[in-house]
Amino acid sequence: MRILIANDDGYLAPGIAALVRACQGLGEITVFAPEQNASGTSNALTLGRPLNIFQARGEGVQGFNVVNGTPSDCVHVALTGVLGHRPDLVLSGINNGANMGDDTLYSGTVAAAMEGYLFGVPAIAFSQAVKGWGEIEAAAATARSIVEQVLAAHPLDGTPFLLNVNIPNRADAATLPRRVTRLGRRHASEPVIQQTNPRGETIYWIGPAGDAREAGEGTDFHAVASGCVSITPLQVDLTDHAGRPGWAERLAR
Ligand code: MN
Repeated sequence: MRILIANDDGYLAPGIAALVRACQGLGEITVFAPEQNASGTSNALTLGRPLNIFQARGEGVQGFNVVNGTPSDCVHVALTGVLGHRPDLVLSGINNGANMGDDTLYSGTVAAAMEGYLFGVPAIAFSQAVKGWGEIEAAAATARSIVEQVLAAHPLDGTPFLLNVNIPNRADAATLPRRVTRLGRRHASEPVIQQTNPRGETIYWIGPAGDAREAGEGTDFHAVASGCVSITPLQVDLTDHAGRPGWAERLAR
């Protein structure tokens, strides 16, 4: 099995090193990761300039392919020629913080996995529920265990899937129950933060994500709050299928 691993926190993030270490022995692993932290870049591709790739050196990152672009760039260039083969599986993460509910639309971690999925490769995105890398080794062991469980249940027969996994920051993460969930919803983001920079100009920081608004039974928020690992199967089709007949009727008048 050949595994492509990417992330959005950048190639020096502890989460990707831990994931790569934990997955040793599962197959042939190749890493393509952004040079800089590219969290919140969603599915962006870099189209206005060329990309450079260099091989990282050093403990924990030796041989990582480092791309001066976005998470989607990393997987895209790997799959469209740089890697030289089609991987059997794309893994992304482990992200520094949750990717639940609306986060999935903004997440570079989910986007890197989605890029694989869009090319027909099964893909799994992993995130820790809380920022700060607490219990990252346990999260990485959990990620490996989930990969093994998923592959045992769903052989890689060419049917792609996209799973979004959120792991509680706990030393016993690998033994926690695993729930297959749906995405919850967040409240709208907190207000923008206005400041003055040292040159007297007004600047704005995007505010933090809102708290969970729809976090009922069955959601990713609920599973993680209940001490479970959340596994949400995702799809890409944004069509409002239920609303389509209504729109067709209204606009036909
Ligand atoms: Mn991130």
